[in-house]
Amino acid sequence: MHRKRKICEYYAKVMGTEEALHPVHYEEKDWCKEQYSGGCYTAYFPPGIMTQFGSVIRKPVGKIYFAGTETATEWSGYMEGAIEAGERAAREVMCNMGLIGEDTIWVPEPVSEDVPGLPITTTFLERNLPSSQGLLRFLGYSAFFATAAAGVIAFKRGFVTFNSNFNIK
Ligand SMILES: Cc1cc2nc3c(=O)[nH]c(=O)nc-3n(C[C@H](O)[C@H](O)[C@H](O)COP(=O)(O)OP(=O)(O)OC[C@H]3O[C@@H](n4cnc5c(N)ncnc54)[C@H](O)[C@@H]3O)c2cc1C
Repeated sequence: MHRKRKICEYYAKVMGTEEALHPVHYEEKDWCKEQYSGGCYTAYFPPGIMTQFGSVIRKPVGKIYFAGTETATEWSGYMEGAIEAGERAAREVMCNMGLIGEDTIWVPEPVSEDVPGLPITTTFLERNLPSSQGLLRFLGYSAFFATAAAGVIAFKRGFVTFNSNFNIK
């Protein structure tokens, strides 16, 4: 399998060992065919889901509390979101049991001392380059205004004249 070989070669390269070229097991999965999540690495929500159901996404139903990463307020869909949501749901249960106060359910996640988060730095180009859609729009507008300006200049200088039948000579 071409893909398997490529992946193994990649792992061998980044891990610096030939061992990765000989996996004991290999499995492939098309996550888009998952019946309930509809994709990965986070569940695929079609348009309208959050606007319709977002307000009840983590609302408990009886004794059922929702702790999936999709219910996180930060890093939803990632491991960080899973931890935030799990801890929040655990505190909701503890609050319901009378062990902690309601004001302690939502607390900011502590910053790791072992692996402190680094600020994301971006280059000038990364911050300012237009999207492909923006670039096409920019080129379209530029071509339109350049053509219009050239037409006006040509007309003013007498390169182009119009007769009553609108024929350009
Ligand atoms: C292919 C892939 C790659 C990913 N890569 C990354 C990555 O690089 N970085 C990153 O941060 N995140 C990544 N993620 C996302 C990350 O794995 C998830 O966000 C995280 O695991 C979600 O945790 P969770 O606790 O919300 O849910 P899950 O980990 O899905 O846990 C839910 C658990 O509930 C169990 N369960 C379901 N129904 C029932 C039931 N009725 N009764 C009892 N148990 C039940 C399930 O078996 C499962 O064990 C990836 C996900 C996928 C699929």
